[in-house]
Amino acid sequence: MEKLSSPKITKEIVNKYGFKFSKSLGQNFLIDENIIYKIIEGSQITKEDIIVEVGPGIGTLTQYLADKAEKVLAIEIDKSLIPILEETLKDYENVEVINSDVLDLDLKGLIENKFPDRKVKVVANLPYYVTTPIIMKFLEEEVPVKDIVVMVQKEVADRLKAKPKTKDYGSLSVAVQYYCEPEIITRVPKSVFIPNPNVESTVIRLKVLENPKVNVKDKKVFLNVVRASFAKRRKTLLNSLSFSDFELSKDEIKKILKASNIDSNRRGESLTIQEFAILSNNISSIL
Ligand code: SAM
Repeated sequence: MEKLSSPKITKEIVNKYGFKFSKSLGQNFLIDENIIYKIIEGSQITKEDIIVEVGPGIGTLTQYLADKAEKVLAIEIDKSLIPILEETLKDYENVEVINSDVLDLDLKGLIENKFPDRKVKVVANLPYYVTTPIIMKFLEEEVPVKDIVVMVQKEVADRLKAKPKTKDYGSLSVAVQYYCEPEIITRVPKSVFIPNPNVESTVIRLKVLENPKVNVKDKKVFLNVVRASFAKRRKTLLNSLSFSDFELSKDEIKKILKASNIDSNRRGESLTIQEFAILSNNISSIL
């Protein structure tokens, strides 16, 4: 089977099966081999790697992943793509396709079952309507993952790697940087997909840390503090936390902020991940 990474072959396959692109499933297929090589290089795949690909589409990136890796587990929601994948991936014995919504799967159980004691790499051109839930699922459900290399909307990549006191810094930045070290691999123009998406894209690598960046007593409280602190960006921490689910009085919050060495007039966007950890640990200890 020829490689799929050209507009001509992609169109031939799509027409042969009468496949209709679904906008609501985020179906924009890659048609540029250079970008595929950048994703492959950025993922540093070896024959010892097990890859989980979310949304293989017609199998374009999958073919290149399969050439490099020990095994590829590809999870595709769209039933109409399954017969196409059977054809395009028929020469690749190390690929398994699962027809499912990735968000419905017990990924931790699935991977521990199929690949005991192994950590996988996630490599994908993600469907943009569910980028954040997919990334957070791998991280929060403690799926054994060592690396996540994904194509995402440029604005999302900017938020994933944003630092404090910048406009892009928010709860997603803190939540992801708690687990990972982000690194931009490459910017990607609209022209490398069919159909062209409305937005620019970025390939980003999230190197999953052996241990989270900071010590937190209770992960749930930490993530709740982070979300509450950014819920209203213009509000001070004192106000944001007073209106959160913690049901703490203003006096209690003032005391906690003081004990955390954080001025109560500061806003969430100025806190480092270390400061969020200290603050949430102090909140955990009185809940
Ligand atoms: N990997 C292909 C490529 O690069 O050409 C296709 C990428 S396309 C941006 C996203 C793919 O994710 C589509 O094939 C779409 O059907 C699939 N998809 C969308 N939502 C999904 C979900 N919740 N679970 C699994 N796959 C999904």
